[in-house]
Amino acid sequence: EFREKAPVGAEELSVSFEFFPPREGLSAEPLMNAAQLLSQSHPAFLSVTYGAGGSTRERTIEIAKELVHKTNSPIAGHLTCVGASREEVDAVARTYWENGVRHIVALRGDAPEGSGGFVPHPEGYRNAADLVRGLKNIAPFEISVAAYPEVHPEAVSAEADLDNLKAKVDAGATRAITQFFFEPETFLRFRDRVAAHGINVDLVPGILPVGNIAQAMKFAKACGTKVPAWLQDLFEGLDDHPRARSLVTTTVASAMCKMLKKSDVKSFHFYTLNRSEASFALCRLLGCRFY
Ligand code: FAD
Repeated sequence: EFREKAPVGAEELSVSFEFFPPREGLSAEPLMNAAQLLSQSHPAFLSVTYGAGGSTRERTIEIAKELVHKTNSPIAGHLTCVGASREEVDAVARTYWENGVRHIVALRGDAPEGSGGFVPHPEGYRNAADLVRGLKNIAPFEISVAAYPEVHPEAVSAEADLDNLKAKVDAGATRAITQFFFEPETFLRFRDRVAAHGINVDLVPGILPVGNIAQAMKFAKACGTKVPAWLQDLFEGLDDHPRARSLVTTTVASAMCKMLKKSDVKSFHFYTLNRSEASFALCRLLGCRFY
């Protein structure tokens, strides 16, 4: 299957890569090195997350600015509206625009743990759809939003979650990046439901090359993603074998990406966890060339 002519760069396949700002005091060098390597695949964009409750505001902006200067890729800044007034959120958006960040991944964000759930800031945006509308009034940003193949844990129903995705697209988002998942059917069934709901958006699977099953289970629990028993079995007994673990990681994620590609998925968003190796290998296996 590797003999088929490989598409070059992002011409036939569109890839994007997500990074998170390292904690205060830790070097951003590993992130920058990873971003520079991955940017040679001519990605649609590289994105930087916004810490829980807006906690990394300054750091996110700083990293986004550095990526604008140190890579040739379009940079997307994540932005959440939890715990902030419209004025504060709008100021971040303006800073992004002034520094060459023309794409925002617009999110609601989560309430702090144990606080009893999300409540909009009294002078803030009410949810992600409201945020998208606000951002469109600031500048002609490209806007991506989040989507949930296994339904957002706070959604009243799967149907209501789709209504919410539609509201975000109607407000101006052109791309929906999914929460990570571990079975290709989960994404493909969701894609059908999104289409049947009349939502016309570029739906991009979020791929988490799971390197550490304990960490993946922790992330998954927080966002309602199911970790299938077969995946847990595959990693059982590998705790002390990091190299074998990374081979298993890439093999599993590659099989899933290939099944998606065979089902006509043409865009992939990689949650890199600030490391290039797994995403680099996966892109190569998908036929993406780096130059
Ligand atoms: P929304 O789209 O506003 O929806 C949240 C929930 O509320 C849904 O269940 C929706 O159906 C419901 N809802 C919304 N509006 C209404 C309404 N009017 N009436 C009834 N129900 C409603 N978090 C961060 O803190 N920083 C990040 O950088 C970040 N990046 C992310 C990137 C991706 C690709 C993804 C998938 C998630 C990311 N998150 C991030 C997590 C995200 O903030 C959480 O999942 C959050 O709980 C929901 O955000 P949202 O934008 O999907 O919210």
